[in-house]
Amino acid sequence: HADHAMYLAKQCGRNNFQFFDPEQDRQAIASRELLHSIARAIDAGELCLRYQPIVNMRRGCIEAVEALVRWQHPLRGLLAPIEFLPAIEGTDLIRELDHWVLSEALAQQATWVQQGLSLRLHINVSAQSLQTPDFLHEVSCIIDRHPRVQAQSIELEILETTALQDLGLVSAVIGEGARLGLSFALDDFGTGYSSLIYLRRLPAGTLKIDQTFVRNMLQDREDRNIVEGVIGMARAFGRDIIAEGVETLEHGSLLMRLGCDRAQGYGIARPMTAAQLPQWIAAYRQPALWADRAEHLLS
Ligand code: C2E
Ligand code: MG
Ligand code: MG
Ligand code: MG
Repeated sequence: HADHAMYLAKQCGRNNFQFFDPEQDRQAIASRELLHSIARAIDAGELCLRYQPIVNMRRGCIEAVEALVRWQHPLRGLLAPIEFLPAIEGTDLIRELDHWVLSEALAQQATWVQQGLSLRLHINVSAQSLQTPDFLHEVSCIIDRHPRVQAQSIELEILETTALQDLGLVSAVIGEGARLGLSFALDDFGTGYSSLIYLRRLPAGTLKIDQTFVRNMLQDREDRNIVEGVIGMARAFGRDIIAEGVETLEHGSLLMRLGCDRAQGYGIARPMTAAQLPQWIAAYRQPALWADRAEHLLS
């Protein structure tokens, strides 16, 4: 092994001396294998979706759901996106996955409409998909496949994690998408290194304030300031606000008082299967406490 390491180090050139790191090598092999198995999983139909309700705080009703991808792994069970998305970010596979999610979620929405359930549908799209030339064409084709599904009922959540390389292009895509009837949201707002530039340059109608700020805002004054600040900025720019990570009644109360438009979190509902959703929605009542509790939180 030592010989092999020396050989590789020499290959790197005299002026660019590097040590061979077996741990790095192991990780590279592991991620290549993961890439192959995700490609196979998409073809084998092992991906599936969960849906998490989004409540309209003013109207007190469930207005939308966000589609969240899962991998039903034959050996490891149901995997969350954190276990496989990072491996495919930056590869063509992320576009394939986003395309699969769009097709699957819209087919599901068509079924709900048929059942008399009218729900807006939020779908996450990677920056990479969004910056692909025929992205909007693909989206319209999928929408056209379902006569019951309207572009107006779809909101695309742009993931801020991958820095958007070409703001001019993304801004044009949002503008063109809006003409088709689509809505856009900036996801995980506040965590990207250039959030304010995104706000300034991207005409997305909604900001989704990141759950890390919301989760601690009741104990942590600074996080509370950020939440208030983002809501104020959204107002000033004429954007809507969704708060993620609403885990308790108190979160909901405070957000309502601060003027938040929509909310999503474990305190309202966990992501669920498409089959579970209609019954859950029928039973949903907005907590009466939300309006009352807020008073003492602000005093
Ligand atoms: P996101 O779009 O910000 O989605 C919200 C995540 O927070 C979801 O995790 C959801 O289950 C979780 N969550 C919701 N409410 C709460 C709460 O009250 N407390 C806590 N602790 N967590 C909450 P999930 O499903 O694991 O997804 C993680 C991320 O993976 C998503 O973050 C999104 O960035 C990405 N992702 C999920 N589905 C897709 C997809 O179909 N396509 C793409 N490109 N990315 C996706
Ligand atoms: Mg959507
Ligand atoms: Mg999202
Ligand atoms: Mg988020």
